[in-house]
Order: sequence, then structure tokens, then C-alpha cells
Amino acid sequence: MAKSIKELNLKGKKLFIRVDFNVPVKDGVVKDDTRIVEALKSIRYAKNEGAKVILASHLGRPKGEKVTEMSLEPVAKYITDNFFPCTFATDCIGDVAKTAIDKLNDGDVILLENLRYHKGEEKNFPEFAAELASLADVYVNDAFGTCHRKHASTYGMAEIMVEKGAGFLVEKEIKYFEGLLQQPARPFGAIVGGAKVSDKIGVIKSLMELADKIFVGGAMAYTFLKYNGKTIGTSMVEADQMDIVAEVYAAAKQKQVQIFLPLDHTIASEFNGAPLDCTEEDIPDGFMGLDIGSKTIDLYVGELNKCKTVLWNGPMGVFENPDYAKGTFAIADALGAGEAIVVVGGGDSVAAVNQAGVSDNIDHISTGGGASLEYIEFGKLPGIEILG
Ligand code: AMP
Repeated sequence: MAKSIKELNLKGKKLFIRVDFNVPVKDGVVKDDTRIVEALKSIRYAKNEGAKVILASHLGRPKGEKVTEMSLEPVAKYITDNFFPCTFATDCIGDVAKTAIDKLNDGDVILLENLRYHKGEEKNFPEFAAELASLADVYVNDAFGTCHRKHASTYGMAEIMVEKGAGFLVEKEIKYFEGLLQQPARPFGAIVGGAKVSDKIGVIKSLMELADKIFVGGAMAYTFLKYNGKTIGTSMVEADQMDIVAEVYAAAKQKQVQIFLPLDHTIASEFNGAPLDCTEEDIPDGFMGLDIGSKTIDLYVGELNKCKTVLWNGPMGVFENPDYAKGTFAIADALGAGEAIVVVGGGDSVAAVNQAGVSDNIDHISTGGGASLEYIEFGKLPGIEILG
């Protein structure tokens, strides 16, 4: 079990915190500080404990090259302008980093340049991991969104470090995902939506072992409906996933998991076409399903209200367009108003709960899309396992 940052002795120590500062930056200006604000709790705690705080992150995908637009320097400036002084080192390893770190007093904070300027980060080269490890006495991971990756800063260096643990953000993620995986209050309902069955099949299969009810929405519902012999018009479908859907139904039967599919839809003749109600499961020729309909909303909300634990990953329709957003927002509203413990996986479902204005009423909104899916699928993540 990973130690909490609170259990580590930080006074006077050089503390390396792997944060997720992969924020939008345009013309050298930070455009959204959500991820910075989320990391403040761990950073402030470490400052107050008297650590010399070394922050490191990736930004974008520079693929081992120094791409100026992906520099973290604007983030150091943003932190200094808005929260507390934060110096900046123009490289994350070597003499540049070491000299800058040597200047820190207890309680000071420095941000290192983009880890992914070096190929060794994503490839987890041992010498790069060792360089990172040589910078610090203590290691903390607070970047949940990268915990499914075996990168040098999330895995290789953590393997070397003796004193290590989880920051507050990662600790909260562990608490909620372990809750889902180990002893969820039942019934446990899982809502899976979004574009592709093939992207989420690993999770859907794992949910057969965990959940009691599965609610399918988004484009992937049409692959399920087609498997069940319904007509789906021109809806998005993955014809090559029929065997997989058959496996899902076989597992559901064996484990007595109920699978719910849309009873009706919002359809259109083209992707951004005028929305029409389709009041039955079958979609007429020439039309595509773009959202769940009102009968489906009533069914899903009614069933979700009986659940004591809910996991949500993926929108119910093309919610970026308000014409097809009703289903997704109705689910968000119901989860916000309900009594269940609700965990929202990363990505689009997070945007949906934020846009619906119910995020304050959701127990846990994961900061990692891919990481949260892999946590459910494999029951663990390398970046967390390596913390001990
Ligand atoms: P994902 O990243 O797999 O969670 O998929 C999210 C995307 O699925 C969003 O961009 C939605 O617009 C898209 N999506 C949801 N429902 C549909 C649908 N019925 N047809 C096409 N795309 C959809």
C-alpha cells in the first residue's frame, strides 16, 4: 500500500513531486489552471513541512525534442503570479537542474522543464530515470493521469527511490477506485458510453466481475443493438466487434449482470442535422442515433436511483452539440441529485458533469481518463504499485 505524503519525513528534504501540469498554454499564457490548482494541496503541504519542492511534469507530446511551445516556463510564471514564488530550471536533469535545485531553501519551490523534452521519459531509459532520481531524497507521485504509464518519472525513478509515496490527488483516486474494486456498496451500476466498444471492451469485461447493472449509451450502444437484431440506420457501428459483444452477453449471463440498452433515441439524417425523436429501438433507414431518448433517460435514471455505487465513463450521445446533449446531461443531473457514491471516470464524462453544473455533488471526479479505465480493467496501475 502506497504511503501518503503525510507519512513521509519532508523537513529539509529535496522532494520530487511528479505533477500533472499538462495544461493548455497559448502564446506563453496558461489558459486553464484546473490541473495547477488541483496540485496545490500537495505542494502547499510540502512547503509547510519545510521540503525543498521540485515539481516535474510533461506538457504535450514533444517526443524527445525541445519544442518551445511546450515549455513549462509559463506555468512557473503563472504559479509565481498567482500563488507563491516558483523558480524554473530550463532542463529537468543534469547540471542545469542540479544547480537550480541547490539554490533552494526549505519551503521553496522549483518547476523543472518538460520531462518529455528527453526521449528517456516516455521510453523509461534507466539512465534518464537515474538522473531524475539523483535530484531528490524523497519521491511523491501526484499525477494520476499518467499512473498507467511506465515512464521514467512515473515508474523508473520511483523504482530507484527508497522514500516515496502518493500525493493528495493520487491518494484520493486510490481511495475511490479501491472502493469500487474491493467492496462497492450494492447495487453497483456502471454507465459506459462514448464512441467505441473497442476502446472500452477491457473495462466492460472487468465490469462483468464487479458491477450488477451496466447501462450502455453513446455510439457503442448501436453495436449492441445491432447484435440484438435491431435496425440502426446509419449510426456509428463496429461490425467487427460482434464476437466481443457476444462474449459480453455470455459473461453477463454467467455473472447475472443486467445490461441495459437504449429503448429510444434522438436521431438525425446527418451528423449535425436537425434532431428528431425516434420513439422505438429500431432506427429508420437513412438516420443515425446521436443521443438516448426520453424513455431511455427515464429507465436509466430510475435504475440508477436504486444503485448505491455508480461508475460513469463516456457520454450518452454527441453531447458537444446541444441538440444531442439531453441524455448525457440528464444522467449528470440524476447522479448529482442522487444518494449513490458516484465516481466519474476522466475525459468527456468529466466535461459533462462540469457543464451540467453538478460536479460539487459528485463524490469523485477522476483526473485521469486512460488511467481510470486501466485501474478498473487491471485492478491496479504501475505508477501506484511502484509506490509500495
Ligand atoms: P469516448 O472518448 O470514447 O468517451 O467518446 C466520446 C465521444 O463519443 C464524444 O466525442 C461523443 O461525441 C461521441 N459520441 C457519443 N455518442 C455518439 C453517437 N451516438 N454517435 C457518434 N459519436 C458519439
